[in-house]
Amino acid sequence: MKKTLSFWIFLLTAFVIVGILCSTLFSAYLVTRENLVNHSLEINRVYSEKLAQVTDEVFTSMKQILEQREFDVVHDIDKPEIIDGKLERFLKSSQNFNSLAVVNREGVILSATPYVGFEGETLTSLGAVESLKQKTTLITAPYTAITNRLILMVSTPLWGSDREYLGFLAGTIYLQEENIIKTILGEHYAKDGSYVYVVDKSGTLIYHPDVNRIGEKVEDNEVIEQLMNGQSGAQFVTNSKGIDFLAGYTYIPSSQWGVVSQTPYEVAVAPVGDMVKKIFMYSIPFVLFFIMITIFLTRKLAAPLRKLALFALNYSSDSEGQVKPPIATWYFEAEQLNKTLESFAKKQEKSIHNYKMKSLTDPLTGLANRRHLEETLEKWKSEKGHFSLIVIDIDYFKKVNDEFGHQIGDEVLIFLSTKMREFIRADDVCARFGGEEFVVLLSETNAVEAMKIAERMRETISHTISPTGRSITFSLGVGTYDDNEDISSFFRRVDHALYEAKKEGRNKAVLSRP
Ligand code: GH3
Ligand code: MG
Ligand code: MG
Repeated sequence: MKKTLSFWIFLLTAFVIVGILCSTLFSAYLVTRENLVNHSLEINRVYSEKLAQVTDEVFTSMKQILEQREFDVVHDIDKPEIIDGKLERFLKSSQNFNSLAVVNREGVILSATPYVGFEGETLTSLGAVESLKQKTTLITAPYTAITNRLILMVSTPLWGSDREYLGFLAGTIYLQEENIIKTILGEHYAKDGSYVYVVDKSGTLIYHPDVNRIGEKVEDNEVIEQLMNGQSGAQFVTNSKGIDFLAGYTYIPSSQWGVVSQTPYEVAVAPVGDMVKKIFMYSIPFVLFFIMITIFLTRKLAAPLRKLALFALNYSSDSEGQVKPPIATWYFEAEQLNKTLESFAKKQEKSIHNYKMKSLTDPLTGLANRRHLEETLEKWKSEKGHFSLIVIDIDYFKKVNDEFGHQIGDEVLIFLSTKMREFIRADDVCARFGGEEFVVLLSETNAVEAMKIAERMRETISHTISPTGRSITFSLGVGTYDDNEDISSFFRRVDHALYEAKKEGRNKAVLSRP
């Protein structure tokens, strides 16, 4: 069987609800993800800014501290034992440097602490060359020192009393060991995979949580390219290992370094799944509520059409009196169908009625036909207490036809049928049994009453002018139904009475006795 309208409406509505839910969840997902990304970018940007500021302050103060010690060192530059002691005390008190050294203008190490055994040797490393050349307070790029360590050096020139250049005082930072930068940045290492790194002006890593990468020059990184251009900001970036990050970065103008704080993209947007799940959970009661309302409204909407459909399904042309389906319609289509179906059913019933009447009526006289008569007899047999039958046959009717023609013969038949009707009551039935034979069924009538009616009929009509211009006569057989008598034998019995009437000279009524 085909699916019902309710089913399709419900399916459609469910489709719409699910569609709206999905698009809402998807939009929520996009908006939430965008918010999380923006939030993470901003956090990292602010954080890198803060760390850059602290780093800048620390290194500025380191330069200042070295400059302040310059006079102290120059004073005893010729007394290595005194310088050694001073450097040791200085290193302990400052805690910013990993080592300190005094180097003369030829690049020879005069004193170093902690003692590394290279005193008296001439330095050719980048830090020494830079310091000797620049003769100013500076921070070098990372380089590998004579000790084979990757270091970064802060140095300040030493000037004699006549402003002659004596060499430099240097503080170093062991980049791959415990150092001041790690102290500032390393403790901020987050559990979620976020981390901070620092590059110098050439893009070389000065600080990175992965110690092995310190000293590495980073290529193909958009964030570092921005820093090289002196830009600060925040953006999405894919690192050298192909992992996506949300990075905030700040350029430090004084040192030309860049500080980057970044969070893995996946970590930053991880809460989006939870949020969408929550939105989904919160929407479930609403969705259920709307589905219930939908079921209710769907039923209401489909009910009139369903009733009409069931009416049409059960409608059979045989059964009468089922004209209108009692349907309360509240919208145009159902109303229109209801009206159409109703008028169709009415017309149908009317035509069925007409057809039935035709099938039970004699076309010439309009009286009940033989079939109707037989049906009525069967019905009366079971329903009526008692009833009587008159069988009528026109006398010498052949002559009428012969003398006046068939047309007048027919008119005589019509005349007789009209006259007969005047003698019967509402419950009685007049029928044309065949040719020029008629039957009258008399309800609740005994033999005496039936004979009276038959006689009156014969008497009256035989004195009435017929279409022939003269009166006609007819003979009658009369009988009363005997309980449980077979209808056909009852009929035969009354027909026999008619035969008797004919035999006795016609224009006569004869009563049949069971
Ligand atoms: P009887 O007195 O013995 O009844 O003589 P009758 O001439 O009437 O004989 P019967 O009853 O056998 O006559 C039947 C005739 O009725 C035959 C036919 O010509 C005529 N007839 C039968 N049906 C019709 C009809 O529909 N129209 C006309 N005009 N004549 C009919
Ligand atoms: Mg006859
Ligand atoms: Mg006859």
